[in-house]
Amino acid sequence: MKVYKFGGASIKSAEAVNNMIKIVEDRQPESLVVVVSAMGKTTNALEDLYHLALKRQPYKKQLDQLITYHHDIALKLLNDQGNGIFETINQLGAEMEKGLDNPPPPLAKAAFYDSIVSYGERLSSRIIHAAMHQKAMKAKWINARDFIITDFSFREAKINWEKTENNINGALKPMLQDHILLTQGFIGGTPDGAYTTLGREGSDFTAAIIGSCLKAQSVTIWKDVPGILNADPKIIQKAVKFENLNYHEAAEMTYYGASVIHPKTIKPLANANIPLLVKSFEQPSKSGTSINADETVESVPSIIFKPNQSLVTFKVKDFTFINENNLSIIFHLLDQLNIKINMMQNSAISFSICIDNQVEKISELIASLKNDFEVQHHTGLSLTTVKNYDQETLDKFSEGKEILLEQKTKHTFQIVVEDQHWKYMI
Ligand code: ASP
Ligand code: MG
Repeated sequence: MKVYKFGGASIKSAEAVNNMIKIVEDRQPESLVVVVSAMGKTTNALEDLYHLALKRQPYKKQLDQLITYHHDIALKLLNDQGNGIFETINQLGAEMEKGLDNPPPPLAKAAFYDSIVSYGERLSSRIIHAAMHQKAMKAKWINARDFIITDFSFREAKINWEKTENNINGALKPMLQDHILLTQGFIGGTPDGAYTTLGREGSDFTAAIIGSCLKAQSVTIWKDVPGILNADPKIIQKAVKFENLNYHEAAEMTYYGASVIHPKTIKPLANANIPLLVKSFEQPSKSGTSINADETVESVPSIIFKPNQSLVTFKVKDFTFINENNLSIIFHLLDQLNIKINMMQNSAISFSICIDNQVEKISELIASLKNDFEVQHHTGLSLTTVKNYDQETLDKFSEGKEILLEQKTKHTFQIVVEDQHWKYMI
């Protein structure tokens, strides 16, 4: 059995959905679970609606646009033989409106966020299911909320693996014998049935969860790129595609910020030794990249850019040195604020961290620590990581730039520079 995951770009229009369905039809794996994201940029639009509702600002126009967008796609796909799909879309829109009209008190914000943004996948999966049905494909729509069971950490929910695995192997598995199962990525549910989400771009992770529970033969992520490249082709023209990449290399690339797959995707698949294939939905017959356990693959330099970074430096105020106690104060707060460090360095009197530029969290961090330390904050930066570097790449990336932070280990080289230096790197 196989798992296919289709992201927002692969289902952003009626043409795209038809292409996606053709990919499934042409291959017809013996048994298949299809995981879909929200269509196009729907999740961003839903986040906007969520913010408007919280601020009690008018949102109706944006909501109508979103519903019309889905309606139009459904209409193109199904003409007017929608099998009730138009009613379903309207009903989901009305439900959403009811929710948006009643924003919760601040403490329940995160649960409200999940209930709103989950509509993207709920709409897309319904429309795609109707389109498959019209083509006489035996597809069954499954609500991810009912089998991907999570805790209550809304917006970044943690999987309850035991319950999820039981559900998948209990209720879902038998249905695979005579149906393609179609479900939503990114969403899960609490044991009492509230919608949760697994973190932005989390649909890849959903595919990995299902694949690992079902011991799939492979999990394929269909994307708008030919596979995993050693650099972003929008920045480095000569980027090359990996034919094979081992789990370690791939996991490290996602850790350093390669956005091609969600960071949580690799672990469950590596543990179960299931290959993860990244393929192009525009050129589905091309090989793509296979991520697997093969450690013999040759390592070439890979370059990962992370824009929109901040550098925060904490200096001790007197002539004492940065010590374990100072560090524990800083780390404790970083943990509390859920801030992930992308790179760090300490000297005798200072400690610097490079983190994503999350304005609110950084202000809170600085406000809490400014009595203990002299804090400097620098924004508008980017972090470049070169894995498996050689001298040539190293020279190319450091020459002529004002480097604010630099680190070199045996296999990895990282620099933090002003964002505008970026364009010279090409
Ligand atoms: N639709 C969600 C997002 O845009 C999840 C995903 O695309 O994987 O974040
Ligand atoms: Mg997406």
